[in-house]
Amino acid sequence: MSAAVIDGKSEAAKVVAEVTSQTAKLIADTGIVPGIAVVIVGEDPASQVYVRSKGKRALECGFHSVTHKLPEDTSEETLLALVDELNNDEVIHGILVQLPLPDHIDEGKIIQAVSPDKDVDGFHFINVGKLGTGELATAFVPCTPAGSMVLLRQALGKQDFSGLNAVVVGRSNIVGKPIANLLLGANATVTIAHSRTKDLPSVTRGADILVAAVGRSQMIKGDWVKPGAVVIDVGINRIPAPEKGEGKTRLVGDVDYDECAEAASAITPVPGGVGPMTIAMLMATTLIAACRKAGVEPPAF
Ligand code: NDP
Repeated sequence: MSAAVIDGKSEAAKVVAEVTSQTAKLIADTGIVPGIAVVIVGEDPASQVYVRSKGKRALECGFHSVTHKLPEDTSEETLLALVDELNNDEVIHGILVQLPLPDHIDEGKIIQAVSPDKDVDGFHFINVGKLGTGELATAFVPCTPAGSMVLLRQALGKQDFSGLNAVVVGRSNIVGKPIANLLLGANATVTIAHSRTKDLPSVTRGADILVAAVGRSQMIKGDWVKPGAVVIDVGINRIPAPEKGEGKTRLVGDVDYDECAEAASAITPVPGGVGPMTIAMLMATTLIAACRKAGVEPPAF
């Protein structure tokens, strides 16, 4: 079998197009312009790239977008004061504090300081709790898990995963656990595997839906995949690529793509799979936040 490639770029473009048209409608109907504030502390190059992309995409969607770039030595107190200001800013509906933060700032404290109504990352305890208890109508769901679900629904051609076994490899709070909760919400039978799981290949071989969120390059091999499974590779790992020239690198996922594509019925590539969905879903979530504030039924993504 050779798997269908799940095209995250084109799915992300569809989400952004829908956000753009629904934003125009919200503005026409209510005068409310969705507003997003992105806060970055320090000079981490990867974070700078993400933040620029987020700002650019927000403007494309028709949002009001502000970026606060703070120096590396910003104090926790100053950052908390900025978050408080944004919490109280009427034109801002979504706040995203780019992680990781410098070591001298308590990340957990900052995440919990963001108003749950503006927590478009879905990391606040209130939103984590809502996702965990199935209160999806008022929760904010983390963007990468939400985007992975869009790709899965598209690949499976349905919303309801009743009768399907899903295995999520990875149990982080930002990826593994929320994806597992979303799969459970879609009626899949869910197993969460992690570094202490015994005989991982035998666990993954039972999966109709296999989600890899591990952070280990090409760890999932072809014979770990049940024939016909749908494979979602969340991993983004940079490895040396001497074939491209000395010192060059390339991105790979947590899945050995060539091997797993032989067994799977559908698979996400890296890059071009889950990655593009993350920013698209951030835009969707910000629009949802603005609709809720306006008392308008938000679109479903
Ligand atoms: P974390 O490091 O927070 O979590 C990794 C998880 O994988 C942990 O639960 C860990 O288990 C588990 N794990 C590690 N080694 C093994 C192993 N040998 N066997 C089984 N399980 C293992 O990573 P994240 O969840 O933040 O990210 C996962 C991947 O997703 C990374 O590659 C990251 O770059 C990528 N990512 C991609 C995004 C996107 O937009 N596409 C967004 C966010 C992340 P334990 O808990 O036992 O330690």
